[in-house]
Amino acid sequence: KDTQLVFDLQSHFAPVFEPPFDPLNVLSEDLFDDKVMAERLPSSVVQRFKECLITGAPTTEEDMTVIADMMFAWARERGAIDFSHWFFPMRGGGGAVGGMLGAYKQDTLIDLEFASKFTTKPMKATLPSDRLFQGETDGSSFPNGGLRVTHSAAAFTTWDRSSPPFVAWQWQIFIKFGDGLLSCFGLDVGGIDEKTPLLRSMDAVKKEGLRLLKASGLGKDVQTIYSYLGWEQEFFVIKAEHYKARPDLVNTGRTLFGKLPTRHQQGDLNYFAPVPGNVQLLLDRVQAVMLRLGCPMAVKHNEVAPGQHEMSPVFRVANVSCDTNVLFMEVMNREAAKMGLQVLFHEKPFAGINGSGKHANWSVGTDTGLNFFYPGKTEEGAKLFVTGIACLAYGLSQHNELVRCSVATAGNDHRLGAQEAPPAIISLYPGQGFEKYVDSVIAGGDLLGYKAEKKKQATGCSQADPIEANVEDRNRTAPFPFCGNRFEFRAVGSSQNCNLPVMVCNAIMASGMAHLADLIEGGLSHRDAVAKMFKENKHVVFTGNGNSGEWKQEAAKRGLPNLNTTPKALSTWNSDKNKALFEKLGIYTKEETEARQEVMLENYITSLKIEAETMIQMVDTAIVPACAKDTSCMVGSWMQLLLEPLALKHLKHVVRGSTLIPRIH
Ligand code: ADP
Ligand code: MG
Repeated sequence: KDTQLVFDLQSHFAPVFEPPFDPLNVLSEDLFDDKVMAERLPSSVVQRFKECLITGAPTTEEDMTVIADMMFAWARERGAIDFSHWFFPMRGGGGAVGGMLGAYKQDTLIDLEFASKFTTKPMKATLPSDRLFQGETDGSSFPNGGLRVTHSAAAFTTWDRSSPPFVAWQWQIFIKFGDGLLSCFGLDVGGIDEKTPLLRSMDAVKKEGLRLLKASGLGKDVQTIYSYLGWEQEFFVIKAEHYKARPDLVNTGRTLFGKLPTRHQQGDLNYFAPVPGNVQLLLDRVQAVMLRLGCPMAVKHNEVAPGQHEMSPVFRVANVSCDTNVLFMEVMNREAAKMGLQVLFHEKPFAGINGSGKHANWSVGTDTGLNFFYPGKTEEGAKLFVTGIACLAYGLSQHNELVRCSVATAGNDHRLGAQEAPPAIISLYPGQGFEKYVDSVIAGGDLLGYKAEKKKQATGCSQADPIEANVEDRNRTAPFPFCGNRFEFRAVGSSQNCNLPVMVCNAIMASGMAHLADLIEGGLSHRDAVAKMFKENKHVVFTGNGNSGEWKQEAAKRGLPNLNTTPKALSTWNSDKNKALFEKLGIYTKEETEARQEVMLENYITSLKIEAETMIQMVDTAIVPACAKDTSCMVGSWMQLLLEPLALKHLKHVVRGSTLIPRIH
């Protein structure tokens, strides 16, 4: 009854009244962005700051002082009394209750002048730049995968200059930093957080991409290359009182027992149907908060399963977008709590109906507006498009397992490969027209042979205009379909932090860019090099039905792995090949690659163990006593005999998973 999903119509459309409010009036009100900087800082400081973002040079101490003073004044105007470095420790992956959240320690803005410590001089509120731009904390309990010993505790955070700081609104007032990075005492390399590797991968795409552009004679004025992300977040919303009545939902994020209502999603009637009144209010409020925080949402709507919804923002440069995704999840949790609602970010809260994903729309482009994944109207754009897809095909085929690993979590195991999500086999869908074109390039054809004109499609009725169809169809059974100007990595789990999956997208892309640049620098023509890349990696291109049984057999013939469980996938993570790739691109050292595997496996085992223990406890403390009370003790004992083996089977799975990694034990 508690998980009854079918809505009752009366409460579904219950009118909700909120005073009229135009959130556009407060767009980016709480964000220390370019506009604030331009208005408040000397133009020379702004210019130097921006140059540093492109060149990677450190900000000077003088400039840091000016920026800190200005940020302090700006934050005080908004009532801030504390500040925090907001960062993402490696928590291992998806399936977490409440989704991946950020970490922070609140530091006060109030400091005493030295003299006022022994006199009666007035106290002073300041934000000294040395505290603003670097933080130190006790890092002993952040997961580190064996990178450090427990007693070596100091950890540092530092500002990601490219992601603007903000003052949180409506829940608690303090400056949080767009982000922070976590590094450890005595380690030259930090990398024990989620974000550092992403930023390093963005640098790798930039470096290898610039080298490739130079070698192929494309993009002459390009100064830098960015990777972009637009996430689509799916989630369920239920009443908080129902959530609190379920130990399984509270402890594990999903229901471990239950029964589907007779009417659920059979008719697919829920998708795009009107959003229930109270959920609509929640989504509107969250949209307004996100606007204040400088993150305009692009869409909000119902999803396939009853009680399931989606919101997506306008895409941004990848690190900022990853930050806003975590922020979005936090804002959702807090706003829902105020309304007596609970958001479920778990990949599969209810068996038998669709689970939730987080599609990562990802692209790579230049500061001059060229996009590696947009066919473009110019010859240069067209060549870049073919070149970009050749790099991606190389990366996906050569480092196929890595891509699978980046979405390997306990929660996602319930979702991948079912009808609602792409299979665990990682392939590339560039479109059927493009697939044919690849064959022509391999056979010696020109790089400009791909016809990217959009097609007009008649509607067959006089009152509706013809439709301009995309160059290629969509494919929702593919883990990596082409979407006109981007690829949509559809396998990411709804509770995951996007940092790791996008880092891996960048890493495999950078590896393709580096390989192609090597081939051209080694003497091959641009055309021949692209043709060689396609020829050697064509087996990763698949444009059919990814959910069909035949694809599994065909993929096996092509040598594409089907890593259908997290333990299987993660056992491939720390291969010599992957370690070499990460090291070459400057993303992870060998030790960091090992550590990351350890953290992901530990997280998997912990999730399953909590599930098994919760199951056993629910049987012992709720189901058996209820049966005993209702009928007779005999029936209760029978129930126990029946249900406990179920839980034990689940535990066995944990043990099976853990034997793959003897180091954990
Ligand atoms: P769908 O129709 O697949 O459900 P949505 O409209 O829900 O797509 O979301 C598409 C997402 O892709 C949005 O966040 C959008 O801003 C983002 N997006 C659009 N173009 C790009 C691009 N070039 N790079 C990255 N993300 C993009
Ligand atoms: Mg969508």
